Amino acid sequence: MKEMTDYTKQKYCSGCGIPLQTENERLPGYVPGGALHKEEVVCKRCFRIKHYNEAPQVTLGEDDFLKILQQIGTSQGLIVQVVDIFDFHGSWLRGLQRHVGNNPVLLVGNKVDLLPKAINVNRVKQWMRRQSKEWGLQIVDAVLISAAKGQGIDELVNAMEKWRDGRDVYVVGITNVGKSTLINRLLHDYSDETGEVEITTSHFPGTTLGMIEIPLDEQSSLFDTPGIINKEQMSYYLAPKDLKLVMPSKRINPTIYQLNAGQTLFLGGLVRIDYMSGGRHSFVCYVSNGVPIHRTKLERADEIYQKHLGEMLNPPSPESIKKLPEMLSHEFPLRKESQDVVISGLGWISIKGTGGSIRICAPKGIGVFLRDSLL
Ligand code: GDP
Repeated sequence: MKEMTDYTKQKYCSGCGIPLQTENERLPGYVPGGALHKEEVVCKRCFRIKHYNEAPQVTLGEDDFLKILQQIGTSQGLIVQVVDIFDFHGSWLRGLQRHVGNNPVLLVGNKVDLLPKAINVNRVKQWMRRQSKEWGLQIVDAVLISAAKGQGIDELVNAMEKWRDGRDVYVVGITNVGKSTLINRLLHDYSDETGEVEITTSHFPGTTLGMIEIPLDEQSSLFDTPGIINKEQMSYYLAPKDLKLVMPSKRINPTIYQLNAGQTLFLGGLVRIDYMSGGRHSFVCYVSNGVPIHRTKLERADEIYQKHLGEMLNPPSPESIKKLPEMLSHEFPLRKESQDVVISGLGWISIKGTGGSIRICAPKGIGVFLRDSLL
């Protein structure tokens, strides 16, 4: 039988004070069941900080998360919002703008190593600024980095030093944006000659939540806040082996299709793009190499979907099909010369050519929308 947390004998982490639980590794206060009987137990997060100088991310419920945002708003310091540039909308921290107070916000686009090599970095940064403005978040600067590859870290550290102006730094972000990878990089940058840095956990007033605190100098620290899950991302619904295919692990090779009206593209069996009307347009697909793309006639698309879902149209694997919500269709007119159709967590299709319309079928709850072209 699965071991459950016994709430009648609730134990607390002796490091950060959070209630301990044995059920979910991604949630705060996790300890392996076998460790719970010990006299002094620390949660996985404190354990790793203590033993490896390493900060794994934990995820939070929305109420706790809101408390954290509110707390940050009343503190003085620089807020660093980390987003995943491959899933900009899906990894956007909603509600942040309401809570930043007068604090400056620095926007960090991580995973730039996934974008094609020939991108114009300044254009992408400008695009990030425009998007932020559209969503009501005023940012002081946008930086592109790859936490995994170490790209752009110096620029980020310089921007942080400039905008924090001697004050604390609060790093916030949705789960999976690569925040712990980034924090581990910064740990190296801020450690002394011996490679040591004194990390502690501290509490947000009014919560039991431990934040990781990394001293930047004598007076100020960097605080790493726990992440929150966005349920609009495709990754939320997929089995781990499908997730591996859907999340690109290396640079995306865009695939170009010239389509006439009446043609359909399948992205695995997760998304179907029907080109309903219009002239010959180019559809450039920015999705992971692990998601095969199939082109077919619109009139045959239903039949192909019924016959081949989970086989030729895979991911989703049969295991994920059971978990996936029903398919929902979205229609969009193509008004601009160039626009992206985004499927949150899966990627985007850049459509070049004005006029006509498309229909996108994607699992219900997954964010699907048009935006100005990123590249
Ligand atoms: P967190 O939940 O925000 O702490 O995210 P993690 O640091 O655990 O990273 C989530 C996933 O993104 C992991 O699979 C990482 O390997 C990957 N990742 C993190 N940073 C980068 C990056 O700069 N580039 C790429 N390609 N992947 C990254």
